[in-house]
Amino acid sequence: MSPLSRRHFLQGVSSLLALPLVRAEQPEIVLYNGNIWTVDPAQPRAQALAISGGRFLAVGSNADVLSLATARTRKIDLAFKTVLPGFNDAHSHPGESGVEHLRKVACDKDSIEKIQSALRERALQTPPGQWVLGFLYDDGKTPRPINRHDLDAAVPDHPVLVQHRGGHTVFVNFVALQLANVNDQTPDPPGGRFEHDSAGHLTGFAGDAAAQVFFKLIPRKNSRDDYRQGAALISKMFTSKGVTSACDADASPEDVQGYQDARDAGNLAMRVYCLVAADSLDHFIAAGIHTGFGDEWVRIGGVKQYADGSISERTAWLSQPYIGIGNNYVGLQLSSREQLYETGRKAHLAGWQLATHANGDLAIDRILGVYEQIQKESPKKDPRFRIEHCTLLTDPLIQRMRALQVIPAPFSCYVYFHGDVMHFYGEDRTRHMFPMRSFLDAGLRPTDSSDYTASPSHPMMWLQSQLTRTDMKGNVWGANQRITLQEAIRCGTVNGAYASFEENLKGSIQPGQLADLVVLAQDPFKTDPSELLKIQVERTMVGGIWKYES
Ligand SMILES: [Zn+2]
Repeated sequence: MSPLSRRHFLQGVSSLLALPLVRAEQPEIVLYNGNIWTVDPAQPRAQALAISGGRFLAVGSNADVLSLATARTRKIDLAFKTVLPGFNDAHSHPGESGVEHLRKVACDKDSIEKIQSALRERALQTPPGQWVLGFLYDDGKTPRPINRHDLDAAVPDHPVLVQHRGGHTVFVNFVALQLANVNDQTPDPPGGRFEHDSAGHLTGFAGDAAAQVFFKLIPRKNSRDDYRQGAALISKMFTSKGVTSACDADASPEDVQGYQDARDAGNLAMRVYCLVAADSLDHFIAAGIHTGFGDEWVRIGGVKQYADGSISERTAWLSQPYIGIGNNYVGLQLSSREQLYETGRKAHLAGWQLATHANGDLAIDRILGVYEQIQKESPKKDPRFRIEHCTLLTDPLIQRMRALQVIPAPFSCYVYFHGDVMHFYGEDRTRHMFPMRSFLDAGLRPTDSSDYTASPSHPMMWLQSQLTRTDMKGNVWGANQRITLQEAIRCGTVNGAYASFEENLKGSIQPGQLADLVVLAQDPFKTDPSELLKIQVERTMVGGIWKYES
């Protein structure tokens, strides 16, 4: 920073916001010399902040904040690095994916050789006869799809199964085929397919019901300790990308217990808001629990239902057919209106927030109708109804969302990460998908989210995708929905907190809020939007403690 711009910067920071120091509270930590973007409209930028008891005590200029320090205060020079509030991944599946990371090899790699060596390494630590499992594989991200011969070469003496990131298809090796008694002559099961090469030999790729043939052979009973370890591991992974809070969008009782056990053991690195799976709602209601139960680390959120399928697997329920699929196929309805209404009404009356997965415009229309009816029959002040993903919108749907102040929780990096499926929706429709510009213009509060494992829990990738609407190959989808960096950061911080009724607790850097923040290696405001995802997270603080340091 030049002396001139430095002076200019200092002039912009003149006020000090501080909590009334009633108990003569002394800061334990002061961070100074920072380029701090607070996401607090009262004081958008600052140089320094003081922390006490895991919360921000004061935020302002170097001079003002440093003057609060005592001999016991730890002073940390930020060397003019950029600081943002910690990010909130408002829809992801940390509990479930954490357990998977414990058990399986992450195959989200860009070359087949890298996947082979990761599998080989795991095989060396695996007792004979036991499965070597991979997940997170995406055949669109390697030069060609992986096959049985690649897997045989890497691991000849254990059964191997690599799951596609989408969750419906698998790749297996020869030992696995043998164990399942599947050979070149085996007929496809109903609703499934074993792929053959041009010579009629199995490639090792199996889809849907054919994949189940292998899943049935894999023992999968998770212990209580697995859930604890999984929660600890995934929270560490999320904080390494700057995520300090996540919403588990389909938490089982075991997941909730895993978070709590990890917290008790002192190794839950991020905060979790749990949308409870609809099939366990009755257990929670019987226990007298409703939305908001818990504390700032692990909290019970709303109840989660499903109205339709997914965008990447072409099962979202649309008003107009998919392009290139035929038979006027418009996707799948996952619940009837009656089911959504009955469960929604019961939960609403018992004090629960409602959160419903709805991607396609018909699914969104259906759940909005249910929310409208429930709120009309039993009005609740500030219900904060959520629509998970909330992908394909129309103007009338957005107006109805606005009337009810429904919260959209859209995928943030879909355009960047899954550009390869956008052609099924077509140029015109993508102008109305993940419509962040339209949401914001309507005065809604969209969040940021990954739906991990569907896409990376990686805030810098979210920002890049939302600012550029450009995929990995450089195709632009729905440029009309671009938003600004400031707006995108707000969605990923304050709006995520709002979606869990916690905006007074976290989401911005201001006195009284939880001391959750991220230190970046580069200033995103001085970075080309198409390079944002290259910005490294240097450190992540949660509750005044560094949970990640690069
Ligand atoms: Zn999800």
